[in-house]
Amino acid sequence: MKATIAKDFHWEMGHRLPYHDGGCQNIHGHSYTMRVEVSGEIDTRGMVIDYFDLKAAVMPIVDKLDHSFLCSDSDSALVEFFNNNPMKVNVVSFHSTAENIALMILTEITPIIREFPNVETLSVRLHETTRTFAEVSVNLRKV
Ligand SMILES: [Zn+2]
Repeated sequence: MKATIAKDFHWEMGHRLPYHDGGCQNIHGHSYTMRVEVSGEIDTRGMVIDYFDLKAAVMPIVDKLDHSFLCSDSDSALVEFFNNNPMKVNVVSFHSTAENIALMILTEITPIIREFPNVETLSVRLHETTRTFAEVSVNLRKV
């Protein structure tokens, strides 16, 4: 018998999209919420994966992002600012859209979740606001 389980995560983070024509070009932040969902066969313990193990796989990246600024390496004005004003910043090689952040997190946790043999699919749904989200997923058993 298969099942789908999920755990929700939350953090605060600043960002901007320097190329954006609207308000997103300005420095601002979001209360990000994220649902990490896994599906697969239920094992003899009655679990697809222990929620404890799911949390342990995800929390390092959440802790790294929480109360930080996510800065694209193409945003030269802010890269220079953070070089001169050290604070919690994560410089990344992509624009900090919900799609790209979700993909970064999926990429980070996939090798860890892959070690749990019953998990077949892994999804990351990232809410930037209560009304918008991006979702990415991977089939872990596909060669
Ligand atoms: Zn934003």
